[in-house]
This record gives sequence, C-alpha cells and structure tokens, in this order.
Amino acid sequence: TAPKRVCIVGSGNWGSAIAKIVGSNALRQKHIDDRVTMYVYEEMINGKKLTEIINEQHENVKYLPGHKLPPNVVAVPDVVDAAKDADILIFVIPHQFIRTLCSTLLGKIKPTAIALSLIKGFDRAEGGGIDLISHIITRHLKIPCAVLMGANLANEVADEKFCETTIGCKDVRNGPLLRDIIQTDYFRVVVVDDEDTVEVCGALKNIVACGAGFVDGLGLGDNTKAAVIRLGLMEMVKFVDVFYPGGKLSTFFESCGVADLITTCYGGRNRKVSEAYVKTGKSIKELEDEMLNGQKLQGPFTAEEVNYMLKNRGMEDKFPLFTAIHRICTGQLRPAGFIDCIRNHPEHI
Ligand code: NAD
Ligand code: 13P
Ligand code: CA
Repeated sequence: TAPKRVCIVGSGNWGSAIAKIVGSNALRQKHIDDRVTMYVYEEMINGKKLTEIINEQHENVKYLPGHKLPPNVVAVPDVVDAAKDADILIFVIPHQFIRTLCSTLLGKIKPTAIALSLIKGFDRAEGGGIDLISHIITRHLKIPCAVLMGANLANEVADEKFCETTIGCKDVRNGPLLRDIIQTDYFRVVVVDDEDTVEVCGALKNIVACGAGFVDGLGLGDNTKAAVIRLGLMEMVKFVDVFYPGGKLSTFFESCGVADLITTCYGGRNRKVSEAYVKTGKSIKELEDEMLNGQKLQGPFTAEEVNYMLKNRGMEDKFPLFTAIHRICTGQLRPAGFIDCIRNHPEHI
C-alpha cells in the first residue's frame, strides 16, 4: 500500500511544534509519506509572506521562533490544496475558526481520510448546548476524528523536553498509525478509547487555568491555587458525569487530565493573561493582543460556551468555579470576588 499522506491544518504555536514532530517521524517511517503539508493562515511579516519564510528558512518565525522545522514540512496558504490528498488530517487551529474551516473543506478531501484533533475548546450547538470540536469535524466532513490532548506546552515540546500525551481514539484500528505519526522518544503517547472524556478534559482545563491566573494576580498563594485546581478538577469530573455519561474516571489520570491541568495552571498563556487581567484592569482582548503576538486564548471563550449551556440548563450553581471565571472574564464580577464564589462549593457540603 502507498505511504499515508499527512496534512497539518494549522501552524500556530502548537501547530508548528507538532509539525516538527510529524515531519521528522514521516522521514523516519516508510509507511508515512515524507512530504507533510501544513496549512498556514497567510500573513505578511516585514513585507514577506509567512508561507515563503517557512518554506525558505524552515522556521515559523512568528509563532514558534527559534525552532527549525524539517524541510519536508511544506507550508501551503490554501487549506484545500494542503488537505485534498491527505489520508490523515491533523487539526490544530484556535477553536473559534473551526466552523469556517470545515465549510471550506467540505467535499474537497479524501472520503477515506481520518482526522486527529489537537484543538482544545467547544462550539455552541443548536438547542442551547455545546458541541465537541471533533464531533463538528466528523459531522461536517463525514470522517472519523480522534483527539490528542495532554500536558504539552508547545515551546517545551519544541525544545524536546520529555513529556506525555493522550490520544483518545474510539476506533482501535486507527490507534497504532496515529501513534506512529506522533510518538518520539521525548513525546510519549498513551492511546485510550475514551475519546470524548479526553477532549472534554482538554477544553475545560483552560477555564481552570484562568482561575489559577486570577489567584496569581490576587497574590493568594500556592494553597489557594491548589484549591482552585482541585475544585476545577472536581467540576471537570462532574461535567463529564452529567453531560458525557459513560466516561471513565481513569481518563482523568492520563496526561490529558490532571497533568495538563497542572502544567497549564503554572505555565500556560491562559494563566499568564488572566494574572495580567487582575493586575492591569485591561480587557482580556486587549491583553491577548498585547501579550501574545497573534497567538489566541481559548479559556475565556470556552468559559463562555460552557456558561451558555449551564445557564440554559439552570445548572450554573452546580459549577460555581466555571461560572465565577466566566463572570470575571466578562466583567460581570470583580476578580476580588472570585474566592467568595467558591467558599461554599458543593464539594464542601
Ligand atoms: P495559536 O494560539 O498560536 O494561534 C495562532 C494561529 O491562529 C496562527 O497560526 C494564526 O495564523 C491562526 N489564525 C489567526 N486568525 C485565523 C483565522 N481567521 N483563521 C484561521 N487561522 C487563524 O495556535 P496554537 O497554539 O497552535 O493552538 C491551536 C490549538 O492547540 C488550540 O486549541 C490550543 O488550545 C491547542 N494547544 C495549544 C498548545 C500551546 O502550548 N500553544 C498546547 C496544546 C494545545
Ligand atoms: P495555554 O493555551 O493556556 O498556553 O495552554 C497550553 C496547553 O494546552 C498545554 O497543554
Ligand atoms: Ca516516510
């Protein structure tokens, strides 16, 4: 059989770090085609197209500066061109852009392709609920979509510092191929079949990370931060229990669960911007533009999407941490009121 072709849909901070891994694995392995395409949302950097810079210098100078990409990773500005021949599509864009992207790709990809989503977030669904991003991909493009989530700050992965990740894949036949594309000696993969729980963990931990940032901004210390992380974890478990029944508790002990929660609450962008939000009083949007050089925050959006559903279901008070974080992000509640919202958490009764 012909070697499998891989396309990476996205080229931000994480997209570029994963391109480095996938590109080198493609070269090493016979059953994966050497040429890996990477969809790059085009922009000009000092008068030059980012795709040209990547293809000439093999570096995403804007989103992952200081790291070379393997030369077999080819930047393509048109997503249909990048994706049309791929057998495996790796989705790694900020979640707010997924719908538009799916409509552009509809009918333009191989019907036999499979997808792997690295996107952490939700989308709003009709009827007052939310959708998982992998479900949107499957529904719109009519292909199966596994997920990869874990304690994986992109810059550290690009530095080849040891870490673990979790692939959630319902169809066990696809697990080994996906692992071959992703795993290296410093990036260790565990495949589980509890796909939805893996994805929900990846999305929800970004909300908790905002809470950790508020704690840091308020100068409340390590014990308070640990309490916020723990209450966040308990709300994550409850969320799966209520909205995605059948999920396994053991999944929370994989890299996508507790481990990602910890790394994001200490080293992530959501934490960093949320701390600055408390200290400066500027809006989240302003701070995102000022501090992240084009990178995007997922936590405040995710908090809003989750709140949209909780409110519609009359369940805001069952998830006081998520609810308080949303209210703070949107200016409905002052950061100083954060702890009062979780003093009488259902976990304490
Ligand atoms: P990023 O935060 O670096 O986002 C910037 C990217 O968005 C750039 O490639 C930019 O070109 C693109 N973009 C901007 N406007 C766009 C538009 N209108 N349409 C399409 N693309 C547009 O991206 P990232 O860090 O690669 O994050 C992607 C996903 O991966 C997110 O869900 C994130 O939560 C997740 N993730 C990130 C990290 C990390 O450390 N960065 C780690 C794990 C998971
Ligand atoms: P931030 O988006 O908060 O930087 O988190 C990155 C991440 O998902 C690490 O696993
Ligand atoms: Ca190869």
